[in-house]
Parts: sequence; structure tokens; C-alpha cells
Amino acid sequence: MSFIRPDIIRPPSEHDSYFLPLTSGCSNNSCTFCNYSFTNLGIRDLADVKGEIDAMSAYVKSGMWMPGQPRIVYAILQEWDGRKVFLQDGDALVYPYPKLLDALQYLNQKFPDIQRVASYATPQDILRRSVAELKALKEQKLGILYMGVESGDDEVLGRIQKNVHHDQIVEAAQKVKQAGMLLSVTVILGLGGVKGSQRHVSETARILTEMDPDYAGALTLTLVPGTQLYKEWELGDFELITPFDSLKELKGLVENTTFTNCFFSSMHASNYFAIRGKMPEDRDKLLGQLNALLSRKDPRLLRPEFMRGL
Ligand code: SF4
Repeated sequence: MSFIRPDIIRPPSEHDSYFLPLTSGCSNNSCTFCNYSFTNLGIRDLADVKGEIDAMSAYVKSGMWMPGQPRIVYAILQEWDGRKVFLQDGDALVYPYPKLLDALQYLNQKFPDIQRVASYATPQDILRRSVAELKALKEQKLGILYMGVESGDDEVLGRIQKNVHHDQIVEAAQKVKQAGMLLSVTVILGLGGVKGSQRHVSETARILTEMDPDYAGALTLTLVPGTQLYKEWELGDFELITPFDSLKELKGLVENTTFTNCFFSSMHASNYFAIRGKMPEDRDKLLGQLNALLSRKDPRLLRPEFMRGL
């Protein structure tokens, strides 16, 4: 089956990257809240990947368009400053290791001045690799991995079909750090529902403390029609927390997580309120903002529902 180029879904901090697809979909395509679920993983031919890198090189060096490349390649290249590359898609680290190394070596050969390559990765992808293999990828400038943790609560992880446990996620984080890569993680407010809210917060604060990532972002659960979680909600088997309760969860994370040196934020468009700061230095400032908001409980201070994004 031919490879279908995925749409661009990327972390906000990768807005200025070149988006180079190695895969489509996600290998763990079962998470009940995610619209990637039940889409098959696609693996792109290495020759195609190298063909796109050749096209990038020809365009950057001489403005030449190579036949056979989709227009999107040139749309991205026209905006690209040549510094960063983001490997698509949902977990590009699943790309077969020798081919991944080969693709990165080829990219570095053609673009020796690239500063950093990035990718989404599941904990399972990371656990499959040895630290030595991850270090070899780091040497080829794969400098940051973005991991969706979602929750530290094994009960929630089981219910959403994340197919990985708290301790395995922590182990994966340790490997990333041993390899000298940066680790950026996301967790999802509200994923425990009303019943599981307290435990979701305490276990998520615990996992963030144990992982001690360089970047941590909180998202807020948005139910996507067609997903299994949406059906559970329709049937009354899952109850959404309120917007202000999601901010109480956020406060709980800020209060109970111990970071060494982390940029923590809730800047994602799914959130009702954005905070950002260096942890631990800015903890009191962030708590002050959240306490002020929670004491007023003025809905006008929240991002309106129609402006929330996935
Ligand atoms: S691992 Fe991530 S991308 Fe894949 S289905 Fe789960 S949430 Fe979606």
C-alpha cells in the first residue's frame, strides 16, 4: 500500500521546523480519547524519505523544484529557516531503527548546519531502544522527544488503553535522559473523569516528579466525536469535570510536582486558562494566578468553549 502523507500535527514549539514524514498514524493506535485511534501505522520507504531530503537540498541550494514531490514540500520549504526538522507522525521513533539512523545520517549529510531534529515517541518506542541506540540517534541531532504521558494513574492508563504502565513510562524517561536528549511531556487534565480526578492528579504529579522532564505541558481533555471515550461519555460511563475543576487539577499538579528544572505550561489551545513558568522558581507565581482565578470563579476569565482547540 502506498504511503499517505499525514496532515501536520506538531508540538507548538516545532512551528518553525521542516516536517518530514517517516510514518503515518501511530503504532499504539488504541487510546480511547485520541482521533489517531484505529488508524493503521504506515511506514514510509526509506528511498522516498531520502528523495524528499534530496528535494529539500535542491530547493535550498538552488531554488530548484524536483519532479514528483508534492506541493506541500515547497510550501514548507518557503517558510523554513533551515534550523530544525520534525519527524512526522504520531510516533516517528517507531521507524525501524537502522533506517531511522540512516535517514538521520542522510539528513545531516545534506544539511550539516541543522541544529536539532525532533520526534513524537511513545514510551514503548523508547523502551524498545537501548541507551546506546538512543545515543547514536542523539549524535545525529535527534535532540528532543515529545511523549504523551496523559496520566500517572495506572487505572486511567488502563482505561484509556495506553498499553503502558506508570513504571514503564518513568523507565522510558530515564533512558531519554541517559541518552542526553531533551524530554518534553504532556498530561491531560480531566482524563480521570469526576470519579478519578483526585487520584489522577496525585499520580500524575508523582509521575512528573519521577520523570523530571525538561518541558511539561498540561492539556485539557476534549471529547472527540467518534472516539471510544466520547461513546463512554454519551452512555454516561464517563463524566467530564467542569472547566474550574480542570484548573483545580492544574493547581494540584503545580503544588505536588517536584521538578529540578522544567518549563511548565498550560499554553495548549485545549486549556481554559494559560499559565507558564520555570519550575521550581515560578511555582508561587503560578499558584498565585490559579488561586486568584479559583477564588473569583468568573467564567469570563476562561477561554471560551468555541475557542478551544484539540
Ligand atoms: S499513543 Fe498518542 S497518538 Fe497514539 S493513539 Fe495514543 S494518544 Fe493517540
